[in-house]
Amino acid sequence: MHIVSLAGGIGGARFLRGLRATAPDDQITVIGNTGDDITLFGLRVCPDLDTVMYTLGGGINEEQGWGRLDETHVVKEELAAYGVEPQWFGLGDRDFATHIVRSQMLEAGFPLSQITQALCTRWQPGVRLLPMTDDRCETHVVISDERGRRAVHFQEWWVRLRASVPAESFALVGVDAAKPAPGVLEAIAEADLVILPPSNPVVSIGTILQVPGIREALLAKTVVGVSPIIGGAPVRGMADACLTAIGVETSAQAVLELYGADLVDGWLVAPEDSGVALEGVRVAARPLLMTDQDAAAAIARAALDLAQELSG
Ligand code: GDP
Ligand code: CA
Repeated sequence: MHIVSLAGGIGGARFLRGLRATAPDDQITVIGNTGDDITLFGLRVCPDLDTVMYTLGGGINEEQGWGRLDETHVVKEELAAYGVEPQWFGLGDRDFATHIVRSQMLEAGFPLSQITQALCTRWQPGVRLLPMTDDRCETHVVISDERGRRAVHFQEWWVRLRASVPAESFALVGVDAAKPAPGVLEAIAEADLVILPPSNPVVSIGTILQVPGIREALLAKTVVGVSPIIGGAPVRGMADACLTAIGVETSAQAVLELYGADLVDGWLVAPEDSGVALEGVRVAARPLLMTDQDAAAAIARAALDLAQELSG
């Protein structure tokens, strides 16, 4: 079977590790969010692609959920000693090497999709990892602060400001001209089923769905989603700040409605959200906390079972 999954960072990566464990013989293609990508110190950083690659490749800092295991921060300290900004984005020494390789290859003219494949030769994630697009396409956030109303890069709002200043809107700069990366539409066309993992519905899944052609291609498929919201709150992170910014309530029901019954065929919610319902969508309630790898695998299994019921 060929499974396609979209993915953001931590939530997506942990789910995918469970999916790979429960479906070891299936082919899995991951379409990763690149809206969070940023250029720092002249280096191209792709936080969500790297979180997926490190998590599935056994190189992730498990407690933190992002960045490398056994990391040191000498380069960051040295940059700070020179007074080089920004100092609010944590890049470890081992992680820096990934961004150096990526940036060198970009400079040499390789597209991000080929670079990601090259990086995965080392990490062997056991899935085919594709960026949503090879084109530069970054999420910016409109905020108002002491400097007035302005747009900042998503990472500045998320990491430096910890989403403490309300987002007025999000703009995916470059999306109009962006094309799905090579292999993305082909993978969707060949897929037996598509999974929307418990990733941020606005700035991870929502971003991927905005790339022209991707959402349209998914409409023809059996799509099962896993709610990132349990009992009215995000499990981890600040997804509520993103939902509020686009006028959507933080609930499993509202996220389902945001994705829409035209896209989603099956929706997994936590037991406390078992009242969720939408015409045309089969809803199932299961424990959705990825407390460990077995729990993540059980959630992935439930998503596969729901897909099977829907297509059977
Ligand atoms: P990011 O790019 O690192 O922010 O990660 P993602 O976009 O992939 O995922 C963030 C989302 O994952 C948040 O909205 C969380 O609510 C959700 N999430 C994290 N851990 C869990 C979990 O154990 N269960 C569920 N259902 N959602 C989770
Ligand atoms: Ca992210």
